[in-house]
Amino acid sequence: MMEHPENDEKYKGLIVNKGVTQPPSVNPYLKKRIKRKTNSAEEYVEGILSGNRTMLSKAVTLVESSLPEHHELAQSIIEKCLPHSGNSIRVGITGVPGAGKSTSIDSFGMHLLKNGHKLAVLAIDPSSERSKGSILGDKTRMERLSVEQDAFIRPSPSAGSLGGVARKTREIIILCEAAGFDYIFVETVGVGQSEIAVHSMVDFFLLIQLSGTGDELQGIKRGIMEMADGIVINKADGDNIAKAKIAKRQLQNALHLFPLPESGWTPEVLTYSGYYNIGIEEIWDMIDRYIKFVKDNGYFYQKRNEQSKYRMYETINEHLRNSFYNDPEIAALLLKLEDDLLHARKSSYAAAKEALERYSQLQK
Ligand code: GDP
Repeated sequence: MMEHPENDEKYKGLIVNKGVTQPPSVNPYLKKRIKRKTNSAEEYVEGILSGNRTMLSKAVTLVESSLPEHHELAQSIIEKCLPHSGNSIRVGITGVPGAGKSTSIDSFGMHLLKNGHKLAVLAIDPSSERSKGSILGDKTRMERLSVEQDAFIRPSPSAGSLGGVARKTREIIILCEAAGFDYIFVETVGVGQSEIAVHSMVDFFLLIQLSGTGDELQGIKRGIMEMADGIVINKADGDNIAKAKIAKRQLQNALHLFPLPESGWTPEVLTYSGYYNIGIEEIWDMIDRYIKFVKDNGYFYQKRNEQSKYRMYETINEHLRNSFYNDPEIAALLLKLEDDLLHARKSSYAAAKEALERYSQLQK
């Protein structure tokens, strides 16, 4: 049978071509692409160990996720990466906003990369959930580093509590180390509790200071100074050089009043310019000397051990707290107890005891 009667000889001059099958209007591959393949823990670990950045990023996203199904997979990945972790120098970096943390990290990082190292920059910013988007670890703030293959920059996880953020950051450190990053920076803003969290996960704690602000020691919390293994005064360039030198002397004098830290290392004070790349080598020389010093006297390993213990207790505490407060019956009881307190029907201690006893019963 003829396909088209119009092609019959009697219709002269008229030819109808055979039709062409139209391609489907929906991309047949789209379905496959939308339905993302979920990788197994083994596949993630294999990717991470071979230095695959996409796999590392995806695994970090799983660690950061609050979905229960991600949690299990993330924990399994972390556990498998653990034997491959620990081989990095972890440096905590703190300083008030504007001290020049990101400018400095950019310069420090480029210095390390030039010397053949691989660097991961992480951040702890427990306020990031409130401020919607972290001001730390933002790639746009580290212009040179952010385009380097050997640098991995990740903003702060935005889990609500500091404990949660800190735990996730520690887990991310494990993944980065397994992926071959031999330097890890953990950045935090110099405003309080978050320094303690950072201090509990790094080998060297670096405090970035500014000069030329009048009383040089004003605004630095004594506790933060005591935690520092090195204090570096930024923006020692141009007219600021003289002021930076004065600040250095003042800080050195202040540090002499503190007892010698457990590490046996006397914290050093240096001046530099992150922006103009002056004095960067001296800072890394100081950090290298510190690491050698504490490895020789054993403090390096002792501190890491203590950090592991701290991590275990922190995990237990967080688990207990969540299990307690997330129990619907306890939540209802607490509301009732709050009301009892308000009307002076019970003391705080009696109310706490009642809630805890009810929780123990629920666990049986
Ligand atoms: P952060 O808030 O601590 O991360 O600080 P930034 O790195 O964003 O720096 C704050 C401001 O100080 C920016 O305008 C930088 O350009 C400037 N700055 C940073 N480092 C230096 C430096 O070494 N010298 C000078 N003169 N300015 C700097």
